[in-house]
Amino acid sequence: MQTPQVYYVFRSGELFLLDDTTLPRQFPEIPGSTVLDTLDARLADENARVVLLEGSAPVSSVVSASVSGEIPVNAGGRGTWMRLREILASDDPALRRLAAPATRALGLVNWHSATRFCGRCGGPLSDHTTDCARTCGACGVSVYPRISPCVIVLVTKGDELLLARHTDRNQDVFSCIAGYVEHGETLEECVAREVYEETSLRVKNVRYAGSQGWPYPDQLMVAFRADWDSGEIRVDPVEILEARWFPRDALPNVPRPGTVAWNLIFGANDAK
Ligand SMILES: [Zn+2]
Repeated sequence: MQTPQVYYVFRSGELFLLDDTTLPRQFPEIPGSTVLDTLDARLADENARVVLLEGSAPVSSVVSASVSGEIPVNAGGRGTWMRLREILASDDPALRRLAAPATRALGLVNWHSATRFCGRCGGPLSDHTTDCARTCGACGVSVYPRISPCVIVLVTKGDELLLARHTDRNQDVFSCIAGYVEHGETLEECVAREVYEETSLRVKNVRYAGSQGWPYPDQLMVAFRADWDSGEIRVDPVEILEARWFPRDALPNVPRPGTVAWNLIFGANDAK
């Protein structure tokens, strides 16, 4: 990899930007920080070094912060920390251009820092010489960045929306039903299964509504809309604290702009 032209420095799911909200072109001095991992990548047609600093919160709290925005910002001097969600939701064209490479950068460094040993033989992995991958010197297997597909669905019943509070994240936020896709399952089957498992409702007319990379740590969120078909709400208490039908004009605390859930709830950016 040639000399990096820009640095994507992350801490707890936040990206470090200079005061003019551009990426630093040399490694920024951030007092008290420790580098956990780095990798070089080609991002937005530039050679980039992606850096993960200590202070990265556990994945569960990063997920929470990414939606509810609770991480305190402390740049430790010049520059600012910005949540990826804020970048995704920004109206600033320069920040909007940063959204895709920053999403990729965070997904890559999350993967890289968590992929140190071969899953086949246990040998240490090193960076592949040409590909964006890691290779085992002992058995030769190459490991590529993992992306985990998830569905997220907004179910409607007439003018009402099905929203739920989840037990493991953002307990004060009502969001859409979501879950990981299982092997052998279509996305539409996953939508129906997740809604049924979490709320005991049956849905119909499942239709695609867009997608978004969500690197907390490695999801591809595939969004759908669906119509209520039958059943009464009965939640799975392991996953859901509360699920209710809400009229559009009386919504509770919901995920903020920049999330695919917000797009679903407010009808933005639907795939045509
Ligand atoms: Zn191996």
